[in-house]
Amino acid sequence: MFLKKQISLYQFLKNPDNILLILDLDETLIHATGTQLEVPHNFRYTNYFIYERPYLKEFLETISLHFNLAIWSSADDMYVQEIVDKIKPSTITFEFVWGRTRCTTRRDYDLDRYVHEKRLKKAKKLGFTLERMLIIDDSPEKTRDNYGNAIYINAFEGNQNDKELQALSEYLHSIKNTHNVRSLEKRGWRNQVSTNR
Ligand SMILES: [Mg+2]
Repeated sequence: MFLKKQISLYQFLKNPDNILLILDLDETLIHATGTQLEVPHNFRYTNYFIYERPYLKEFLETISLHFNLAIWSSADDMYVQEIVDKIKPSTITFEFVWGRTRCTTRRDYDLDRYVHEKRLKKAKKLGFTLERMLIIDDSPEKTRDNYGNAIYINAFEGNQNDKELQALSEYLHSIKNTHNVRSLEKRGWRNQVSTNR
């Protein structure tokens, strides 16, 4: 009962004018592998060992104060939902949690394989605008259609000294009041933060 009240209060306090931040899952927020690493895993999903990126919970809680959040992964829908249920802090509500069925499959002849692209016009249909939407991903080929909205981060593969989410949090705070995110030069974002990497 108390929890329900807290959530509705949170929904009430959410600002619809905040920038929408669409977060990738694998190698961005977590690393899933069938081969166990030397460091302890956070939880398991079927045959996978799941490692949360350092600072994950704090990152989600901190940025949720200034951004509206969503998850979009090109992995299997059920996997995405179950992983998100595990890593989501109880105080956060995602605008949407999307998996592969929301992606667009494209043959990439440079990479010589199929790529599951995330095309932001699908999020536009929910009423969000491209000027107020950012996508965070470790795979540029998946956001090719909307690179002007993308912030690329290094892939996480279990390194416990990884500081990418601290750095990203600092950068996001510096741009949270930007009117049009597409006008920002985002490629050198790491040079604009002080977080020691
Ligand atoms: Mg990824």
